[in-house]
Amino acid sequence: MSPSPTVGVLALQGDVREHTDALSALGVRVQSVRTPAELEGVEALVLPGGESTTLGMLLRSSGLDGPLRERLAGGMPAFGTCAGMILLATTVLDGRADQVPLAAIDIVVRRNAFGRQLESFESDLSITGLDSPMHAVFIRAPIVERYGEGVRVLAAVEYREELRPVVCQEGRVLIASFHPELTSDRRLHELFLTHIGI
Ligand code: GLN
Repeated sequence: MSPSPTVGVLALQGDVREHTDALSALGVRVQSVRTPAELEGVEALVLPGGESTTLGMLLRSSGLDGPLRERLAGGMPAFGTCAGMILLATTVLDGRADQVPLAAIDIVVRRNAFGRQLESFESDLSITGLDSPMHAVFIRAPIVERYGEGVRVLAAVEYREELRPVVCQEGRVLIASFHPELTSDRRLHELFLTHIGI
């Protein structure tokens, strides 16, 4: 990796500004990614929360879908939060029929998995690698229903008497089903940067 790598933020829809601010606050050079040419200029990519079905359509209409799949298959590090996590999964449950995830991390996710009563909630989450809990904001959040052998679960929440993974890592891909970009705690962004050697 070059001495001062550029981290991209997928800037089609969603919490783009918040991720950009979080990364900038950590001293990282950030590039908004809306086109294949902008994707070429980044060494890693953050995929924000928003609406995964809309993001999927915009990926296709912007021409980013194919090049992004290629970069991820080639090992580009990525960090997806909420809708971004859904995009990076291998399989999406309760998605739209035309939702074809990017398959960058071996997880099966269910959209809007916490049901109506718990549509949005906050929780102090213990995350492996962080020395104290992180306040986590979940908004119509997905959960990980199944994961492959290579996936490390870094945090989980109890739902319907089962522990459900909400932060996972496989290689240089990190996902969170909550929104670390919406609070001032930068430690999960920092953990991503550490994992990828920035
Ligand atoms: N439920 C949304 C989706 O399916 C994700 C919500 C979010 O990113 N806050 O894309």
